[in-house]
Amino acid sequence: MFNLTTLVRPNILNLEPYSSARDEFSGTEGIFLDANENPYGNLNRYPDPFQKQLKQKLSEIKSVATENIFLGNGSDEIIDLCFRIFCEPGKDKALTFVPTYGMYEVSAAINNVELVTVNLDKTFQINMSEALPLLTDASLKLVFICSPNNPTANSIDAVEAIIQNFKGIVVVDEAYIDFSDRESLSQKIAQYPNLIVLQTLSKAWGLAAARVGMAFTNAAIVSFLNKVKPPYNISAPNQIAALATLEKTDEYDRQKETLLNERVIMIQQLRQLDYVRKIYPSDTNFILIEVTNADAVYNALTAQNIIIRNRNKVVKNCLRITIGRPHENAVLLTALQNIQP
Ligand code: PMP
Repeated sequence: MFNLTTLVRPNILNLEPYSSARDEFSGTEGIFLDANENPYGNLNRYPDPFQKQLKQKLSEIKSVATENIFLGNGSDEIIDLCFRIFCEPGKDKALTFVPTYGMYEVSAAINNVELVTVNLDKTFQINMSEALPLLTDASLKLVFICSPNNPTANSIDAVEAIIQNFKGIVVVDEAYIDFSDRESLSQKIAQYPNLIVLQTLSKAWGLAAARVGMAFTNAAIVSFLNKVKPPYNISAPNQIAALATLEKTDEYDRQKETLLNERVIMIQQLRQLDYVRKIYPSDTNFILIEVTNADAVYNALTAQNIIIRNRNKVVKNCLRITIGRPHENAVLLTALQNIQP
């Protein structure tokens, strides 16, 4: 049986969280002499610690109840909070499937938690016979699965099988889900008490600068996330910017359509290049390609101030290309056509 309290670090379970008068009175009218603010200015007041308005809006867009939403200063903050809630430093372990997003490893290292890594197979899927035995380790508290995965761009098929076969917490990072045809697992948080789904406004919503990440999970896990987060973790300007952008759904749809069309064009053009050995299928706003010499291509592009991501060290001779605006993609493709690596 799944038992959340046995998974939470005892010091977090017993933690008395920071509290302020604004927990209750944020957004109400009154004379506020409680938080040692300067009464003058535009940005003089602390923001709503629980981002009620923003959660309400996201609840409508994502079809997830507000009590099942936690917001972080980017999903990077939530990744770190998961380690702090569930993993005893120097004792507990986490697991992920590589190659994948680099912050799981960095956050694990910061928190002095061993990160066990399992290689994805040739098609960048999880090999279940390799993964299943590892899930029985009693010191394994967290599994991170990035789907669609960065940098491989594909969706992972076995996500639910892992959730069903693990007694610890599974964090499914859906940063790129808005570009995919697959269903978000956010609609299954009631079914799986060990599931945390991460999404972000940094990608399809175009708000990377505003640092708004979301966790969709059961209310008990939300309450632990609230316990450990810094009190005012999303700034007032960023909450306002996010609310304004979330109103512009037409623009969101238009941009997404453009990016997905551009992805098709990019793939067609990349196929014409004889030094491109492989173009991996993409469920995201980027493409992973294998070339004959990734370092040579990367260096030739940076010399022209065109910056892509060289992933040669994590996937041999692979480059990750983000889909940009049409003219940016055209400049990149012309540059690639003129390279002889
Ligand atoms: N998860 C994945 C898979 C990512 O690629 C990124 C951004 N590179 C993040 C999380 C971080 O997103 P945020 O901007 O919300 O911190």
